[in-house]
Amino acid sequence: MGHPLITLHDKSFRPYLSAAEIAGAIDQVAARLSADYAGRRPLFVVVLTGGFMFAADLMKRFTGDCEIVFIRVASYEGMGSTGQVQEIMGLREDVQGRDIILVEDIVDTGTTLHHLLPTLEANKPASIEIAAMFYKPTSLRYPLTLNYMAMEIPNDFVVGYGLDYDGLGRNLPDVYVAA
Ligand code: 5GP
Repeated sequence: MGHPLITLHDKSFRPYLSAAEIAGAIDQVAARLSADYAGRRPLFVVVLTGGFMFAADLMKRFTGDCEIVFIRVASYEGMGSTGQVQEIMGLREDVQGRDIILVEDIVDTGTTLHHLLPTLEANKPASIEIAAMFYKPTSLRYPLTLNYMAMEIPNDFVVGYGLDYDGLGRNLPDVYVAA
C-alpha cells in the first residue's frame, strides 16, 4: 500500500522526499560552506517566506562565525510563477564588503534571483553566493552561478519543508509533490 496522499486546499500531493533525505543533503552543503567560508564571517541573507526552514537547518550546521538577516520578495501565486518580482523589503543591514550567502527555498525559473542579485550587488558586497534547498535545472531561464544547491529536483510543484501551496504545507517535515 504506498504512502498516503495528503490534501491541501483542493489538491492532492504524494510523498516525495523524506526529512532524513533532506537532512542528509543539507549536511553536505553546510559542510562545503563551512570549509569555503572558514574565517570569513559570512552574512546569510534569507529570502522569506519559504527559505526560513532551510536557513535554520543550514545555519545550525555552519561551523564558523556567521550572521543572518531576512528579506522578503514576492513573485509567486498559487502553482505558477507570476514572473514578476516585487522590491526587496527588510535589507537594513550594511552589506558593503560582506560575504553574502543568499538563502533560497527553491531556484525554479531563476526570475527571483535574476532581479534580486543586481539590487544586492549595488550595495557592494565582497561576494555573493546562492544557497538553495531545491533547484529545478530544467526550469531555469537565466544564467546563474549556483554553487550550493542542496538537491536537484524535476520541474514539478512541491510542498513541505517551508514550501507552501497557497499558504498551507510549510510545516510538513517531508516534501510532497502534486499527485
Ligand atoms: P523563481 O523565481 O526561481 O521562478 O521561483 C522562486 C520562488 O518560487 C521560490 O522561492 C518559491 O517560493 C517559489 N517556487 C518555485 N517552485 C516552487 C514549488 O515547486 N513549490 C512551491 N511551493 N514554491 C515554489
